[in-house]
Amino acid sequence: MHTYTHTHIYTCTHTYVCSTYIHTYIHTYVNPNFTAMVTGHGKTRAYLHRFKIIENATCPCNKGDQTIGHLLNQCTLLQTQREILRNSVLKSGKWPVSKEELITKHLNSFLIFTISIDFDQL
Ligand SMILES: [Zn+2]
Repeated sequence: MHTYTHTHIYTCTHTYVCSTYIHTYIHTYVNPNFTAMVTGHGKTRAYLHRFKIIENATCPCNKGDQTIGHLLNQCTLLQTQREILRNSVLKSGKWPVSKEELITKHLNSFLIFTISIDFDQL
């Protein structure tokens, strides 16, 4: 698994827009779940609802809207996965943990957590 930040300098060919701009993005050769959890774009019911792809944002666990925060901290359907994540975070940090800390300090455990989420069942 590779995660790295990549900076590209693009020269814009559209004269009416701009000359040159720098675009930084994170390449993740992991899976769409990780990208969705980190960026908040895609996968969750809250996201799909915002773009009117589905009718409501409520998580099947019925504890609230299915946001990234909900999946990380509240969702009862992910209790087992969260417990695994929590145990590994507690070895070197504290719980609860912010998403930023998960990405910067506990990336591998966070990757395992995101991969273990079966969005088709949520
Ligand atoms: Zn839930």
